[in-house]
Amino acid sequence: MSIVISGDAVSKGVCIGSAIIINKDNIDYAPSFIKKSQVDQEIKKFIRALTNIKAEYKKSKDKVRDNETIIKLMETQLTFIQDDSFKNNVINRIKKHLHTAVWSISSEYQIIKNSFDNIEDKYIKERLIDIQQMVISILDFIRSNKKQNSFDVIELENKIIVTEEITPKDVIDIYHNKGLGVVTSHGSVSSHSAILSRSLSLPMIVKADAAQNLIKNNDTLIMDLDNQMIIINPENEELKYFKNKKSKKTSIEKDLRKVLKKKTITNDNVKISIMSNLELSEEVKYLKNDCDGIGLFRTEYLYMNRNNLPTEREQLLAYKKVFKKMKNKPVTLRTLDIGSDKEVSENIKVGEIAKNPALGLRGIRYSLSEKNIFKTQIRAMLQAGYNANLNILLPMITSSDEIQKAKELINDVKINLKKDKKKFTNKYKLGIMIEIPASALQADELSKQVDFMSIGTNDLVQYTLAIDRIDDEVSNLYDPTNPSVLALIKKVITSCDKSKINVTVCGEMAGEALYTRLLLGLGLKSFSMHPQAMPEVKNIIIKSDTSRIRRKISAILKCNDISKRKELIKSL
Ligand code: PEP
Ligand code: MG
Repeated sequence: MSIVISGDAVSKGVCIGSAIIINKDNIDYAPSFIKKSQVDQEIKKFIRALTNIKAEYKKSKDKVRDNETIIKLMETQLTFIQDDSFKNNVINRIKKHLHTAVWSISSEYQIIKNSFDNIEDKYIKERLIDIQQMVISILDFIRSNKKQNSFDVIELENKIIVTEEITPKDVIDIYHNKGLGVVTSHGSVSSHSAILSRSLSLPMIVKADAAQNLIKNNDTLIMDLDNQMIIINPENEELKYFKNKKSKKTSIEKDLRKVLKKKTITNDNVKISIMSNLELSEEVKYLKNDCDGIGLFRTEYLYMNRNNLPTEREQLLAYKKVFKKMKNKPVTLRTLDIGSDKEVSENIKVGEIAKNPALGLRGIRYSLSEKNIFKTQIRAMLQAGYNANLNILLPMITSSDEIQKAKELINDVKINLKKDKKKFTNKYKLGIMIEIPASALQADELSKQVDFMSIGTNDLVQYTLAIDRIDDEVSNLYDPTNPSVLALIKKVITSCDKSKINVTVCGEMAGEALYTRLLLGLGLKSFSMHPQAMPEVKNIIIKSDTSRIRRKISAILKCNDISKRKELIKSL
């Protein structure tokens, strides 16, 4: 008999395939022994791994020798493998108990891991990840199987990956390896991993806490995303039903896409713009030219899944590809927004692990502290935007001061580009993301300093309601329709109207059909979303009457009862 478990679906549809369990820790605790005659050889293997990893770290350190903070971080990690007690304990296990190097290392790691169990402080606990990474590097070296722990070398094609947690980097690896779907025990639908999987059309169900215990390798899974459930080893009848449902859905979707050929005008003649969000520059090839431009290119993904920074030329080529595809339509390149759950490699990252990463050195704060990284990116953007329609978007703005500092750096870049006799655009528009209540509340003032605004509802909800968007324990409280969030969105739209500048919503709310009329009612005329959401949202827009919706909106803004508010929104 089949087993059914539930979770939170990141998108809609059906996905059918066989399971592969990925244990990211990949530390092999299975007992394994050697003969007495193999002791020296086994110790040598271990010492060689330590020496090699130290050397690799030194090489990487030389590459970043100007960056003291990165060097400090790497030294902290090195301390662990240079620690005599770890080394001696492993050697003792090999010598005295005839355990293999792999088992000895894993057992020592297990002891360290257990000692962290008694530590209350969440942030000290996170240091275990650094140690774990080093241990995995040592094990990988010994097993001569460098990247076993990551998703990029395991055979994932046509598999549904079942794992505990997933980072945006993992999603990219799974996408590149043609994985079919993802089921995780933790996570939330508003995390960047979820956003990325939605945009890459990779079916994902998060927070399926029973998954790791109940699913085994090669089990057949049906991910029924519409009903937020996973069927493990379905009966033949169930399999037939869902295969049928899947093919029907595909043909309905194909039909719905026809709407994209029509103009986006409401019933009462209001012109609305629908733009696309873009994560990976290679996604551009799937983009049809049936939207009004790119409303948000999350450039940070160019910096992920690698150990060095993308060069100016690399970025230039990636941006040019997007401009070429979009012809003369606007392309909004957001400057680097790393930090929080969008992790980059240790070689790029600066600083210690942030105590509270969502409130730490992310977005524009990172760019203003790592000016050369920001300037390289702007150089690439301005050159790629030559003879094209470039919008530059600054993330995580909280004050006018940050806008002024960014403008100064952009001006420096322009002076240098001129000196270098490079072709670049001077006709770009400069905009800011409104994703923090502080900037929403200053929208009147800030809207006079920029050419456009883009409301990032994903973070705006997080920061207004004090709900970590990646924490599954509070994901049920993450509510984009909370009256305070709606009031902030309305305020920003009104300020932009007064200053006669464009305002777009580019957070996930823009692509959720349930909120389309709500946003129209708040006065929104520009939406940016993942391409898969466009047909459904557009279909609603062209059947809407904005003046009728606006009359109903004040009741929603005043409604403090969550279920009544949801009813009112549905009835729009
Ligand atoms: C947002 O916060 O709504 C947004 C679009 O940015 P990101 O999801 O990349 O943080
Ligand atoms: Mg954001």
